[in-house]
Amino acid sequence: MTIRARGTEKIPQRQPPMLCGTAIYMTQHQTLQRLMRQTAERIRMSGVENAAFEAAVLLEFCSGKTRTELMLRGDESAEDSLIKSVASCADRRISGEPLQYIVGEWDFLGNPFYVGEGVLIPRPETELLCSLVIGEAKKIKPCVVFDLCAGSGCIGISVAEACPDARVCAVEKFDGAYAYLTRNIERHGLKNVTSVKADVLESFEAAGLPVPDIVVSNPPYVKRGELPGLQREVRREPEEALDGGADGLRFYRALAEKWFPFVNAGGLMAVECGEGQAADISGIFAEKGGAAEVRRDLQGTERIVIIRKEL
Ligand code: GLN
Repeated sequence: MTIRARGTEKIPQRQPPMLCGTAIYMTQHQTLQRLMRQTAERIRMSGVENAAFEAAVLLEFCSGKTRTELMLRGDESAEDSLIKSVASCADRRISGEPLQYIVGEWDFLGNPFYVGEGVLIPRPETELLCSLVIGEAKKIKPCVVFDLCAGSGCIGISVAEACPDARVCAVEKFDGAYAYLTRNIERHGLKNVTSVKADVLESFEAAGLPVPDIVVSNPPYVKRGELPGLQREVRREPEEALDGGADGLRFYRALAEKWFPFVNAGGLMAVECGEGQAADISGIFAEKGGAAEVRRDLQGTERIVIIRKEL
């Protein structure tokens, strides 16, 4: 559809963003700013909430320029190769692939971690769990920390970096996630964190590890029946990182029975949990003699349970 402009020439009406492919981007002299706006519009139409932010992340990723540079040079023309790569990233995003998988890394506590298909994406609420553990680990010297169900390793690696005296074992069972864990350990170049391939549902003795002072875990905690109803992006994440069994509590039972008894006196276990699970988890640990404290996240949701091992 066209409208008559003041002059005689026909100019296209607002670009129809639903027309996929790169052609729409190339129909006119394309500037960085316009490319950013059109990309945001395209992904917003597919139901993405933070479309402007996501478009900026994709442009940064494809151009190698920072957001500030892109803003400052907004009037400069975008090269065809950039237009093409942004369009193909936007297509992937529109199809429901998480932004973090497309750009291949994501920040956790200010440090980048490789992510992609097969590994859970680091989340802001887990930063709270990790900060808390860092504070506790600094009080115990020397401190042995286990990060169980480590995934990308974002918790364990961040603890190891913040606490150079601590020794961290990051335990992960699944090949897909384990590959990211080892790459992330390499990336951060830390000597005090080791990856261990083991199943947290099996016993502690089976893993052949030293005695821990702190055990931290963000285990799978989604109720199995709720998996199909998760956001489309979350459904692209590995089910084994989300599926907490019928009631979502399967891993907390294993942690209480098979790992908590081995924690050194004076140490603690700290776990992330889903909405409405904190009381049940406290109950599971109470049966094993552990008194739980519950912390809320920034949304006010009970998100972390801490169980101390008395001296
Ligand atoms: N926080 C994740 C979610 O958004 C769940 C992660 C987990 O199961 N540990 O569903």
